[in-house]
Amino acid sequence: MEYNTKDDIVYWAKRAYSARMVPATSGNISIRNEDKILISKSGVCLGDMGAEDIAEINFNADSINGIKPSSEKLMHIKIYEKRPEIKAVIHIHCPYVTSFAVCRKEINEPILPEFIFNFGVVPSAKYALPSSVELADEIAGYFKDGHNAVLMQNHGLVAGAKTLKETFYALESIQAYTKTYFAAKFLGEIYTLSDKEAQEIRNLRR
Ligand code: 13P
Ligand code: ZN
Repeated sequence: MEYNTKDDIVYWAKRAYSARMVPATSGNISIRNEDKILISKSGVCLGDMGAEDIAEINFNADSINGIKPSSEKLMHIKIYEKRPEIKAVIHIHCPYVTSFAVCRKEINEPILPEFIFNFGVVPSAKYALPSSVELADEIAGYFKDGHNAVLMQNHGLVAGAKTLKETFYALESIQAYTKTYFAAKFLGEIYTLSDKEAQEIRNLRR
């Protein structure tokens, strides 16, 4: 599937909703197409959206097609500005993941090889008013430092990658980590991997 079509946005938006990442009308999704960004309409449920619910905006956040863009448009724009290789961004409110954001904890425990290999840490960006320029700047700063997924304190999570598919898989992987974490806490004592074991996993990246 192409990564730069409206159909692609609708497909991955529905996948995010089905995966319970974006309850009700929470979350938003976008792709960058050269000097244009295609982004979900403000207030739309990602599970119910169609191609007609996609706003086309420029990097000044003006709507080109008259559809009101997501209230988090500045966050999407600033991520694309800081990381030109990122072409797709998805923001979610998954309750398991957002629990970490509410407790203002980063996701960093070395308990799952897949997580150590792909992320190591998902940092927790300081709380700022949703849709504000302060929030956009705070989040974009982490992307500038090389992070591809960032927790938004008392709010949710945002991730970016080259394609919507890659972005979705990153979110799904983080969601799986958080679900495993809470289930394991309930079951018993969590064993974390040692520094040596974690380093061995990081070495596999080379
Ligand atoms: P929008 O519907 O305006 O994209 O807002 C949803 C959201 O998650 C705000 O943070
Ligand atoms: Zn949000």
